[in-house]
Amino acid sequence: MKGVRASVESGYETLTTGGSSVDAVERAVVEMEDTPVFNAGVGSALNLVGETEMDAGIMDGSNLRAGTVAIVTYPKNPIRLARLVMEKTQHVTLAGRPADTFARIMRLEPAEHRTRMRTRMWRQALKETMENPLKRKISTALRQRSSPIHETVGALAVDSSGNLAAATSTGGSLMKLPGRVGDTAIIGAGCYANNRTGAATVTGLGETAMRFLLSKFICDRMASGRSSQRAAEAAMRLLGGSEFVPMGAISIDRHGRIGAAQTSKFMPWAFRTRNMPQAKCMPKAKIIRPSAR
Ligand code: ASP
Repeated sequence: MKGVRASVESGYETLTTGGSSVDAVERAVVEMEDTPVFNAGVGSALNLVGETEMDAGIMDGSNLRAGTVAIVTYPKNPIRLARLVMEKTQHVTLAGRPADTFARIMRLEPAEHRTRMRTRMWRQALKETMENPLKRKISTALRQRSSPIHETVGALAVDSSGNLAAATSTGGSLMKLPGRVGDTAIIGAGCYANNRTGAATVTGLGETAMRFLLSKFICDRMASGRSSQRAAEAAMRLLGGSEFVPMGAISIDRHGRIGAAQTSKFMPWAFRTRNMPQAKCMPKAKIIRPSAR
């Protein structure tokens, strides 16, 4: 909870000191990337071979420009690299080693991403996978182990000009295959922002967020008149039947009205608006039972 509060306060401070909504979401995500408890930046989850491969994405709702990076290993703050892709290149996504090279060229700070806690979690997961003969087959092992750990981070903001922005960053799912790209690097899946509709970001298993393009789905619901809360709930309701996995979403409309919903048990989140003296932290959002499809 402390981490989400600090993130919201730093994003809010950015807005009150003249920053744009893009500056605010970047700042808020950097704060969480620098906090090892989250699955992003320095606290990223480890893949099958015990390495970090991070994804991040950012979108500016005023012009629909977006930047994402996938499977990067070098920068301390992948969200900063995503923003540079958005602002300094003609592209939306850079991936892998060339993206790391771009980070070096742009003089981004590097970091050692493998924390003790993540290494312990990875060793435990590997041990369980190897100990159980049923799980030895790699495809089975991955189905069992490549699960979200629900600490992917995201931020949304609307500034005084009414511009919306969204950002998200992750180490991805624990024990993912090397080279796997998650929803965080896919605009419309991990996050989306459009001044005309709203902004959204999600957490949970990336493969599910990609199949349903969950963040874009939420923005489309807002475009067709649903409130930000109802739109987030509608996205969670979509995840029924065999597709069910624990997910969570936050949303904001262009008037700054906030929504949050989850199918998972845990999703700490926080917000602050102009007339609040400090950020309000919530241990979870409204829990939605997905309908069977
Ligand atoms: N969405 C992330 C991914 O699958 C994981 C998470 O949210 O925990 O890459």
